[in-house]
Amino acid sequence: MSLTSRRKIVAGNWKMNLDQAKAAELAQAVASRCAEVGNVELVLCPPAPYLGTVGMALGLSQGVSPSGVAIGAQNMHDKASGAFTGEVAPPMLVDLGCRFVILGHSERRTLFAETDAIVCVKTKAALAAGLTPIVCVGETLEEREGNRTQVVITEQINGSLAGLSAADLEKLVIAYEPVWAIGTGKVATPQQAQEVHAMIRGLLGKLASPAVAAKIQIQYGGSVKPDNAAELAAQPDIDGALVGGASLKAEDFLGIARAFAG
Ligand code: PEP
Repeated sequence: MSLTSRRKIVAGNWKMNLDQAKAAELAQAVASRCAEVGNVELVLCPPAPYLGTVGMALGLSQGVSPSGVAIGAQNMHDKASGAFTGEVAPPMLVDLGCRFVILGHSERRTLFAETDAIVCVKTKAALAAGLTPIVCVGETLEEREGNRTQVVITEQINGSLAGLSAADLEKLVIAYEPVWAIGTGKVATPQQAQEVHAMIRGLLGKLASPAVAAKIQIQYGGSVKPDNAAELAAQPDIDGALVGGASLKAEDFLGIARAFAG
């Protein structure tokens, strides 16, 4: 598979940060300068209450904006509607112009007890609604130091994607985010990241086929910054980044995206 055949994708996970005005400002700043970046898919994932505002700031119409910048949610419920107080349904995200949804982020897994089985149900629901799930996996420091990375990632991939057809798998984005690198300033080395990305692609090959696996975008996430993005981007199986802290500054987010544009 040639390096150029998978489009790079850089997504900003704004988490529970900013206010409405700052969210709109950041979205506009990214959109107004994204042409400088080159051929990279850019996705902004604001807090759910600001999805509409950010969509408007981007001039979204049916998920498409003039700049090409897309929006995604950070989580969702798996049901399309009903008595689920406080939850957000997949069709609501579509209605707001979302094309993506982050699922199984380590903060959801650890702080909100989301299991692989829950992530799997949500992944299927997202696909059914026409959303592209960004399915996150990653090992803790303890698991890495105990030489359990491969076992943990295998379990998470197989559990989170159980029962998906090859056609569905082809529509996903996977994010490898070592838990020990998220928000810590401690980035995985390009070699550590590449090793796990290649392993994930191998697992996807078994779930679907090597040809399908070769088409799936696998992002790295965990303390990605403009000054460490280029060496990650140079790895053959790293197809973009899921960015937390650095996505809150347009300059840094665009700097990371530029590194992936090559
Ligand atoms: C994340 O939360 O998905 C993330 C990668 O955060 P950070 O970039 O801040 O490590």
